[in-house]
Formats: sequence, structure tokens, C-alpha cells
Amino acid sequence: MPFALSRSLVSLALFAASLASAQAEEKVLNLYSARHYQTDEALYSGFTRKTGITVKRIEGKEDELLERIRNEGANSPADVLLTVDAARLAAAHEMGLLAPVKSALLERRIPAHLRTSDWFSFSLRARVIIYAKGVVNPDQIRNYSDLADPRLRGKVCSRSGSHPYNLSLMASIIAHQGEVKAEEWAKGVVANFARAPKGGDTDQIRAVAAGECAVAVSNTYYLARLMRSNKAEDRQTMERIGVVWPDQKGSGAHINVSGGGVLKTAPHQEAAVQFLEYLASDEAQRYFADGNNEWPVVPGVKLANPALEALGKFKADSLPVGSLAMYRAKAQVIFDRAGYR
Ligand code: FE
Repeated sequence: MPFALSRSLVSLALFAASLASAQAEEKVLNLYSARHYQTDEALYSGFTRKTGITVKRIEGKEDELLERIRNEGANSPADVLLTVDAARLAAAHEMGLLAPVKSALLERRIPAHLRTSDWFSFSLRARVIIYAKGVVNPDQIRNYSDLADPRLRGKVCSRSGSHPYNLSLMASIIAHQGEVKAEEWAKGVVANFARAPKGGDTDQIRAVAAGECAVAVSNTYYLARLMRSNKAEDRQTMERIGVVWPDQKGSGAHINVSGGGVLKTAPHQEAAVQFLEYLASDEAQRYFADGNNEWPVVPGVKLANPALEALGKFKADSLPVGSLAMYRAKAQVIFDRAGYR
């Protein structure tokens, strides 16, 4: 049997060698994503089609993903982190997880106020005011500051003050008006609550439509989702509410972003940068817009989204997204003091 043995040893060695080279050649990108939108599939397959690189995705909740990457340390397989909310992206930066990325393409495509040295925004969502038609005159709620107007006593619904969307809005108010005015505002809004904060943005929209309250704020993509829904109840909801673009004569509607960066410990640095560059391509920008109802960050991309079109053009706040994070902790302190829980 010695002959047979050596032959099988040789073939085993050959097999191992080919496995190793296959592993080296198999081009992969490990993506840690907190975006849990079905339509993001198109983003990943689009990238694979263009580059031959397979996207292996790990999905998790935003803060859990950050913890996970930190715990995995130098052994983390994560190449790219994609998440929502500027303050969370900034948190990844502060935790020292992100690698600086130098890309002429990203610098050319993404406006300066929507990127930092190590993370980039790829889509935009605005936080708008919604109201019950026939109950509230939209002229009374042209600005975020109006939400604190005593005329709205008992009429305002909100999700928790601890939620990043509200914290980022509050951070922008602090940035524009200072802490004192921001706190006055928070107290005024709390005084106007129709009920204690609960639920997500869509719950606030439904509560306004159901007459539980008359005014709330929501991210635009939740509205667009209802606008594009075929369900009769969603259509009814949207018929009952109106949408106001806030602060159009002032600093513009507060916008937040979804974005990402390359991890410092990324095993596939080059593929990771390629992926970010792909996300800034016209094709990927259209997936964000048409699939998840967000606005592209790249100017001039042609869209085919009737809901975004119906929402219309607006003036967006041009505050650099990186600066929202600066005031996030302050925003939480002020909300706590004001009882905005
Ligand atoms: Fe959301």
C-alpha cells in the first residue's frame, strides 16, 4: 500500500495548495451594515457585478456593530462599516475604528460638508414637520421653533428624545442657536406633548393621522414609504396629513445621513475603498434614492422616485455633518433636563 498512500498524500497536498490559492484569489469584502433595508441588496450585487468582489454582509443594530468591531479588535474581519446617523459615524471615528481614506473620486463626488477624513455620507434624509390637515394651519409650523409655541399645547407627538434622529436635530439647534435657546425650545416642546414619547417615526405619522395629536416630526423616507404604499390604510394616513419643510427662510431643514467608512483593521483595504467609491457612483446613488427613498449626496443624479418628487425641492441645512456629533452629548443632557425622554 505504500504507493497508494503516497499518491493520496500527494493529492491531498495538491488539494490543500489549490484551496489556499483559491482563498487568496477569492475576492471578498466584509461589510458590517446597520442598514437593514431590503433594497440594499441591489447595492451589493451591483458592486459584485462591477468588481467581481463578493460582499459578505453582517447585519446588526447600530451600536451593537460598533461594540462588536471594538471587541474583535485587530482580528476583526470587518472591512467597511455602513450605518445611519451622523453622530454614530462620528462615534466610530472617536472610538478610533476608522482609517483615513484618501480618494480623489470621493472628494470630487461628495460635497465637503457631507464627508470627513474617515467617513463619508452616501444618502440624505431630512427631518420634516407633519401636521393634521384641517386641524393645524401649516403657517403656524413653518419652523422647528414653532413646535414649542404654546398654541400647540397638547398637540405634539414625538419619539424618544434619546433617539439619534432627535438628538441630531437637537444638536443642529444647539449649533445654530446656542444651548440656552435650545433648552428653552426643548422645554416648550415637552410642554406641548399630547402624550409621553413612544414609538418610531411611522408611529408618530399614524398618531397624527388618527387624531391622537396634530403635529410631529418624521424622517422623509418614512413618509415616502407610506406615499408609495399600495395599502388603503397607508393612503388614508397620507391623505390626512400635510408635510412642511422647516426653516426654509432660515438655516434650512435638518438633514441626517447614512454613510460609512473603512475600518483601520480591514483585511481588504483596497476593496473597501473601492466599495465606498462604488457607493458614490450614479448607479449606487440611484439605488439609495429609488430603493430606500433617500436623497443622493452626489449632485445631479437622475432619480425615478415619484415620492421624492412629490416631496419637492427644499433648502437643506448646510451645517457640516461632522459637527452634529460635537453637540450630541450636550443634546442628551438638555433633553434630560427638559424631561424630553
Ligand atoms: Fe430610520
